[in-house]
Amino acid sequence: MNPAARKDLTIVAPATGNQMAAIGVVRLSGSQAFEITEQVFSKKIAHQPGYTIHFGKIKDQNRVVDEVLVSIFKSPNSYTGDDIVEISCHGSPYIVQEIVNLLVKQGAALAEPGEFTMRAFLNGKMDLSQAEAVADLIASESYAGHALAMQQMRGGISKLIEQLRNQLLHFSAMLELELDFSTEDVEFANRGDLLILLNKISKVIKQLIGSFALGNAIKKGIPVCIVGRPNAGKSTLLNALLNDDRAIVSEIAGTTRDSIEDHFVFNGISFRLIDTAGLRETNDTIESIGIERSYVKMHEADYIIYLFDVNELSNEVVDADVQAIKNRVGGNKNIILVANKIDQITESEKSKEINSSFIQISAKELQGIEQVFETIAFEVNEQMTQKNEIISNVRHLEALNQCDLALNQTIVQLNNQISSDLLAFHIREALKYMALITGEVTNDEVLGHIFGKFCIGK
Ligand code: GDP
Repeated sequence: MNPAARKDLTIVAPATGNQMAAIGVVRLSGSQAFEITEQVFSKKIAHQPGYTIHFGKIKDQNRVVDEVLVSIFKSPNSYTGDDIVEISCHGSPYIVQEIVNLLVKQGAALAEPGEFTMRAFLNGKMDLSQAEAVADLIASESYAGHALAMQQMRGGISKLIEQLRNQLLHFSAMLELELDFSTEDVEFANRGDLLILLNKISKVIKQLIGSFALGNAIKKGIPVCIVGRPNAGKSTLLNALLNDDRAIVSEIAGTTRDSIEDHFVFNGISFRLIDTAGLRETNDTIESIGIERSYVKMHEADYIIYLFDVNELSNEVVDADVQAIKNRVGGNKNIILVANKIDQITESEKSKEINSSFIQISAKELQGIEQVFETIAFEVNEQMTQKNEIISNVRHLEALNQCDLALNQTIVQLNNQISSDLLAFHIREALKYMALITGEVTNDEVLGHIFGKFCIGK
């Protein structure tokens, strides 16, 4: 996409999905939006005030295509900042396409993916990180994912970075001034204050970098892996979690299933079961403990559910298995110990004490399974509330990592009392990476990459 070349075009696209629905919306944005619409609409709208809605007919010459409502938004008070027309028609994909075709015949250009939101960015209606949040908002499928996208769209991290960047810009300007007076050995930028600021920024940047793992997991689904010895009941538990026909799906409010990704939502948090097909294979293996093959998968998971048959394994064996897992995947993985088949516990075993740290379930009888995921959901919510700002975008992470490097170098160099010009150079680098996040510094290639991933009409 070449934003400069397309800037003067009036663009059009369906704003709603390509399926039958009660209504469909076609959106136009650009300086000719009203004139082009008037060519096919039964009423004049160009001189009507913004934020008004007009009932009339869309016509292809004498043929009425649909009766519609036309909403008008006048520049700059619109989503993109351009003049905008939104035509709400009956939600047949055929009608929507017909209206788009008619508008194209009258001179509108088909919008490219993300072009409406890119215009909003280029017209200063939002910064780049907010524009990216729009895509996340549309894609959000859980309470937590939605909350994260909303925080970003409201400008959470942009404001924070912008504030720090402005403070650093002040020092940068002072240093440039020193360079202008280089023959006179003057120091406008107080090095002590600069160091304090650099350390403050570095701390914030590191916190943001540290929040990515959580943000990414919330956005894509908390990665969870179920492991255990053969016959522990892993497949039964997986089926209970993922099979639409099973009671668990209706018992747990808000649970949905994505059949391809082994993905479901529970208590507002999206979970991703890692390569469960691979894990099912452990049924057939006769390994000392049936989890050998799963170690690789466990590395990808944030949470490991260790499932065991409560009637088969003693607490000591469970401890040994868990220790073996920790030895392989590291001690800081979250391992949730789940005792399965509690429906089979005999009276004599009931008198034996079951370790209170075990969550007790019956995968077969669908008992207690909610508690496993409630435990994880609770922890995720705790982590979310502990962190002020959470990033979830890989592009931001890359820019923050670069910025972190530049800041570290600046701090080292400052301590080594380098010359003003080198110091100014390092600070410019840090400023550049901070600006990449908000989009203050950008180029067409970057924009094309970001907005190309949006859907058409957004
Ligand atoms: P996996 O090898 O860990 O995947 O174990 P499976 O899910 O194939 O289960 C092994 C056997 O245990 C099957 O016969 C299941 O029906 C049975 N099973 C699984 N969960 C339970 C449970 O909660 N209670 C009872 N009674 N049987 C279970």
